[in-house]
Amino acid sequence: PELRNSETTVPRYIRVNTLKTTVEKVVEHFKAKKYKLEESNDDLGDISPQTIIKDKHLPELLILPPNTDLHNDPLYLSGDIILQDKASCFPSFICSPLIDSHVIDACAAPGNKTSHLSSIMQNSGKIWAFDIDKKRLELLKKLTRKAGCENIVAVHGSFLEENPLDSKYSNVECILLDPSCSGSGMVSRLAENTQDQLDSTQKPLVERLKNLSEFQERMILHAFKFPTVKKIVYSTCSIYAQENEHVVRRVLEQTSVFELADRKDVMPSWSRRGITSEMGDDEEAAEKLVRSIPNEDHTNGFFVACFVRKSVQCENNV
Ligand code: SAM
Repeated sequence: PELRNSETTVPRYIRVNTLKTTVEKVVEHFKAKKYKLEESNDDLGDISPQTIIKDKHLPELLILPPNTDLHNDPLYLSGDIILQDKASCFPSFICSPLIDSHVIDACAAPGNKTSHLSSIMQNSGKIWAFDIDKKRLELLKKLTRKAGCENIVAVHGSFLEENPLDSKYSNVECILLDPSCSGSGMVSRLAENTQDQLDSTQKPLVERLKNLSEFQERMILHAFKFPTVKKIVYSTCSIYAQENEHVVRRVLEQTSVFELADRKDVMPSWSRRGITSEMGDDEEAAEKLVRSIPNEDHTNGFFVACFVRKSVQCENNV
């Protein structure tokens, strides 16, 4: 079910599942298969055959040439490695939940970001993983089991129906929000199982984007209602500002409690940021957002915004 990068120029990214193995062990595995290790490479558009590269932004990510088929590799079959596009690793990395913390993954299936969260948390604490689609949630259960995750509570249902004041969520500090989107950033259209790309009703794009963005806005506003949450990481694999910067602007207009996290806390070394003109010419706000452009950035198209509770930053500043 993971993204098959067939016929693409996007490199084959491997997220090392640190619940089961280490980056060094995975590198050794590929060296034994006659791969040559490069510490990091600035030109990911031209990766030589049989080369493995350590990603310079994400410590658990390794890079192989595009179209490398690893679906029969023993490390893939055992769940030691996860085939996940680089940009889709950004949200869990930006969340960076602490050991023993409680997290909600509001739109979790098929669970690549959930298992990434689990691995960052070293299987401690608790992750509530919601999905409204029962079949996809079953896939999440299967994939997170394969990845060795033991801190996930899979919940079938709409995140919008969850009561933010329920005492079981009283220690939740972080919400990862990766809702359905147009999927317009996906380089490969073969990823049916990982993203909602096609609207079965085939509505015109303008109407579709309006519906999606209203849903995305509602989801963020609902996440704002969880009283102990300090950080909300919103992401899409859409290239459209309607689902990205515009949604961010609208929700910011409706909260006095949350604001965008400073750029220094949101992958500062990643140079592609939000689009200033789509943020009402607010350059500073746009800088706080992360974007990636399909192919140009050697990833799928992606967008991330990180909201933080204002008092959290104030406390840190005291
Ligand atoms: N985060 C996932 C991953 O990395 O593997 C991908 C999530 S996909 C972009 C969006 C998911 O949101 C779909 O699985 C869809 O079923 C789910 N979804 C849509 N509406 C929802 C709702 N109201 N509550 C919870 N999940 C919802």
